[in-house]
Amino acid sequence: MGCTIGAVYREDGDVFLFKNLDQIGHSTYHPPEIRQGKRFKYVHLSSCRDPNGIGVWAGVNAAGVAVLGADGNTITNFTGRGWSSLNDTLECYQSILETSGSLYEGLDLIIRFYQAHRVGGNGDLVIIADRNDAVVIEYATDRWGLMFRNGAPYLIRSNFFLALSGVRPAPEENSLYLSCALRYQTGMTHLSRTAGNTTLDDVMALLRNHDHGPSAMSICRHGGKGEYLTECSFIAHLGPKHIDSYTVINGYPCESSYRKLTLDYSAELI
Ligand SMILES: [Zn+2]
Repeated sequence: MGCTIGAVYREDGDVFLFKNLDQIGHSTYHPPEIRQGKRFKYVHLSSCRDPNGIGVWAGVNAAGVAVLGADGNTITNFTGRGWSSLNDTLECYQSILETSGSLYEGLDLIIRFYQAHRVGGNGDLVIIADRNDAVVIEYATDRWGLMFRNGAPYLIRSNFFLALSGVRPAPEENSLYLSCALRYQTGMTHLSRTAGNTTLDDVMALLRNHDHGPSAMSICRHGGKGEYLTECSFIAHLGPKHIDSYTVINGYPCESSYRKLTLDYSAELI
């Protein structure tokens, strides 16, 4: 996957968390549904051909904890015996949604899980967030880079390490890495205009943005043959009383309308 992920913390306390899911070639994704997890209800976005299979590509739970994953695209690539890969990361995301009551519980879970399961591949780049804080997690086989929000009104990532910058390729190496740099820059530029006053419409406009495109270089990705296309899009709006999620599956966000699902905060939180 190649993705754009981010978070906005508004001045009035509302929070937006978002992800575009980009892939090479088309897959078929199942519609979002609200499921009862081990501890919390959550918006389940199945990553599997079989909707009963384990693993999600993003989501938010009734404690207001969201998980947004993007590939690490690191130089290191640990595969083969003893190393697990993408499916395990998606299983871990689901486990966070089912059981984590805060960003810190989710962070604890992902570190234990990735170390215990020896997650390999090209690493991972994840945002875990709740109403109060967000952390960007960069992972590359036994290395962890954590960057908390630190009061900033927004943060955004493409597939582009900042903390572990030593294990990522340079943008000039090929168009894949150039796209990571351009999408990060586009996101930062747009969010800098609206910052703590960013609205739902602003977030949708960002996920439909075609600066440097429409092509594999834009946030809404329309790559050519063998390049990335945006296949799904997800927004969680953590409001004062409810969590509204908005999802597009199997289409470009620029040509689709978002489907809304509302989740009540769990009694445990209130
Ligand atoms: Zn588009």
